[in-house]
Amino acid sequence: MFNKAEALKKLPSINVSAQLAAIVGQKNIITDHVAMANYLSEPRGLFQGRAACVVRPGSTAEVAAIVAFCAETGTKIVPQGGNTGLVGGQTPSERGDEIILSLGRMDKVREVDPASNTLIVEAGMTLAQVRAEAENAGRYFPLSLPAAAFCTIGGNLATNAGGTAAIAYGVARDLVLGLEVVLADGQILSDLSKLKKNNTGYDLKNIFIGSEGTLGIITAVVLKLFPKPRAMATAFVGLADPHAALRLLNLARERVDHELKTFELIPRIAVDFVLAHGEAARDPLLAPHTCYVLLELAGQSKGVDERLRGLIEAAHERGIIAEAAVAVLPDARKDLWRIRQQISDVQACEGGSIKHDVSVPIADVPAFLEEVERAVTERIPGARLVAFGHLGDGNIHCNVSQPIGADEAAFVARWDEVNEIVHAIVADHGGSISAEHGIGRLKRALLPRVKDPVALELMRTLKRTLDPQGILNPGKVL
Ligand SMILES: Cc1cc2nc3c(=O)[nH]c(=O)nc-3n(C[C@H](O)[C@H](O)[C@H](O)COP(=O)(O)OP(=O)(O)OC[C@H]3O[C@@H](n4cnc5c(N)ncnc54)[C@H](O)[C@@H]3O)c2cc1C
Repeated sequence: MFNKAEALKKLPSINVSAQLAAIVGQKNIITDHVAMANYLSEPRGLFQGRAACVVRPGSTAEVAAIVAFCAETGTKIVPQGGNTGLVGGQTPSERGDEIILSLGRMDKVREVDPASNTLIVEAGMTLAQVRAEAENAGRYFPLSLPAAAFCTIGGNLATNAGGTAAIAYGVARDLVLGLEVVLADGQILSDLSKLKKNNTGYDLKNIFIGSEGTLGIITAVVLKLFPKPRAMATAFVGLADPHAALRLLNLARERVDHELKTFELIPRIAVDFVLAHGEAARDPLLAPHTCYVLLELAGQSKGVDERLRGLIEAAHERGIIAEAAVAVLPDARKDLWRIRQQISDVQACEGGSIKHDVSVPIADVPAFLEEVERAVTERIPGARLVAFGHLGDGNIHCNVSQPIGADEAAFVARWDEVNEIVHAIVADHGGSISAEHGIGRLKRALLPRVKDPVALELMRTLKRTLDPQGILNPGKVL
């Protein structure tokens, strides 16, 4: 008997793209290898894949038709937003038989509702644009990542992104009320609810948030909006060590908790890297310090800057901090942020860097960093720890740069060995090996070693149930 699915599976990829062109129009299909290049590798260059084509739908109906076609033909799909993910989740395999489903054309506002404090947008809108739309509505959308100009809100939800305001507003998951998702058989789950309270069974949206494209394609989202902060004030603070940074965090919690928006740890080596290789950066303080905190308050009432200065003074009196610069005007605040924002980019100028995106209980961060530095430099003398990031969430990007003058390739070849050292210390502290970037391809092999077996089996059951053919982002996460 003629089996359409089997017959379609045997068709060459050119026919897959021809069939997909019938859904989205020829101009929204990319098959040329040069034109596809930007979709095939990720920001760190760790993964490079191949794909049958890139398909760029313009509506949820088109996504549903694409996925239904793929389900029928067994064609595997790699969803992609802004391609800024850091664990290779958006990169296809090397086989070349997958299609990349790029959401970039789906960038429309569906509804702004300032009275309900909600914004409904399509998944391909960049995070920067989402923030601008909120601003236009007289509101504030707090998710904030250095990649905001390129990453999409769909990608942010698929990875459950964190960023620099999570200490105050939570991670991406906390900023969502409803989702629209295309399921693996092409059905549309329309759960664009604006309700805060809705206890009518399981919370399905949270299954898809953080699932890295393995359970469904997010096509639209209801976001929570917040009042625009009326005033912000930023400080760049020099400290003797991360213990002092932790004391400062606790003092800030006691005095200005409701206005504390950002609390980022920056080691001196990261400042040196930015001053050497970054753009328009200058050292905001007079003397060098072992480490720094970039601290920001955002509030609704007047006097935010005074409260920040009060905090700094109190920290001085207690001997917690050595020196601080405070900025209130937007340009001066931007100046202070410039160092933090360039850390990720400039590390490459110092040669190979082995990355870790980990979290431990906040109180453990200083001891954790000391243990990591000791263990890594014992194994690789001269290796440089560049541990920075979201101290207020216990989430540190605990990167290790190669010794000066070492062979880059030989150093990077020790990636797994260094990961093992760092992740063992993470485990000792009851932490997580992926705080905000996800699992993707990079940490897939590590997952069974760190995840509770019952939780892992439940994840596999969910995957089998929602995607029985395994066509959604195969080889990622599980
Ligand atoms: C300089 C820099 C700084 C960064 N800083 C941070 C940070 O502070 N915090 C943080 O959390 N991350 C950070 N990131 C990582 C990255 O920006 C986030 O993971 C972001 O959320 C990815 O969004 P994207 O649109 O680029 O997704 P992509 O990279 O395109 O995809 C990421 C994953 O989501 C899936 N996906 C994408 N769109 C969809 C969709 N619509 N439906 C289903 N699945 C989808 C992909 O298949 C993939 O698995 C940073 C990245 C860079 C380059």
